[in-house]
Amino acid sequence: MDGTSSLRHSALMESVDQAISIKYNNLVYDLKATGHDIITLSLGESYFDVPAPDFGGIDPGELHHYAHSRGLPELRRQLAKYYGDQFGLPVDPDHEILITAGSKVAIYLALLATVEPGDEVVVLEPFWLSYPTQVRLCGGMPVMVPHDVEIFELARYLTGRTRAIIINNPNNPSGRVYTAAELEFLHELADRHGLLLVVDEAYNEFVAPGTRFVSCGAADPDKRHTMTVNSMSKNYGISGWRVGYVIAHQALVEQILKVNQHLITCAPTPLMRYLADHFDSLIERTRPQIQHVVATRNEVAGWLAARGIEVLPGEATFYLFASLGRSALGSDEFAERLLRESGVSVVPGIAYGDSCDRHIRISVGTETPERIRRGLDAIGRLIESSGG
Ligand code: PMP
Repeated sequence: MDGTSSLRHSALMESVDQAISIKYNNLVYDLKATGHDIITLSLGESYFDVPAPDFGGIDPGELHHYAHSRGLPELRRQLAKYYGDQFGLPVDPDHEILITAGSKVAIYLALLATVEPGDEVVVLEPFWLSYPTQVRLCGGMPVMVPHDVEIFELARYLTGRTRAIIINNPNNPSGRVYTAAELEFLHELADRHGLLLVVDEAYNEFVAPGTRFVSCGAADPDKRHTMTVNSMSKNYGISGWRVGYVIAHQALVEQILKVNQHLITCAPTPLMRYLADHFDSLIERTRPQIQHVVATRNEVAGWLAARGIEVLPGEATFYLFASLGRSALGSDEFAERLLRESGVSVVPGIAYGDSCDRHIRISVGTETPERIRRGLDAIGRLIESSGG
């Protein structure tokens, strides 16, 4: 294709950048397609052995058609039971949960339902990179909190325009899990200032062995101010299926439902049906694999330490947020050179906030330990050779 288009784009869209992690992943897909062997430490997912879905038993009258816009009732009931049984968060499947095409869009729908133009939303660095862009797409202003600021200092980032705080627990990219005291403090803050607490728990199963995950919403069973977002993508190892969900007060779900009807209609019907029918067996199959990748993550933390590379504190997920130490490069240039010179892909820390440009995200979800080691060797070499 050549030639220029005279069509005008909206200033808002022009101001939005590509999601840096996805941009890198597309680069990796393109390089692999042209025969390059890339040690891929950039993907935001973990590859599991999951059975290919068999839709054979599903009634064709259901299989090919739209489903309920709140999500298939049977899957809503399974998810409500999951949160109730596992985390003590009671969920009414008819009114307090909505399933949509991934948690990414679930967060956006919730922000659309909450944020007025000019409203502020507090986002903690390192943030999952779509939060600030989604806030801007709603006409809001993300207020970024640098990564070295303690949760207990958050009050100074609030103004009369603050409407919401978004947290990601466990955190992508650091692997950090919030403490009980921190969650309690966030609830107090939300109550005191009338804020919505958006809690993204996409990695809730990926905690260290012996750790019990505490869902933030459990301390707010009436959902006065807490909205929980989660996804089948990571816990079930099926990111490509695009099934995520939001748990919130009935009144907020009613608002989200309207936008979902206008933008999405419903999550894919056959996939919701399959998930409802195999809900427990699938998570039983992925749980040992999740434990394995979390153990790998924590072993890799040791390998990095042995190379003198520091990471932000964390013990969950399959990510490590590693410091560039003595390197004089910014994280984007570092990641770009690492890929070009050594065939190793990571995500530059700048994607996760301005305070994170001295870091890179390393994902250990898709490579063998031997290839991860080779990737770390290349990272160590580039840190040394690019020292200021
Ligand atoms: N939240 C976090 C923290 C994530 O890392 C991701 C995916 N990388 C998502 C939400 C989105 O997940 P999905 O849209 O696949 O449900």
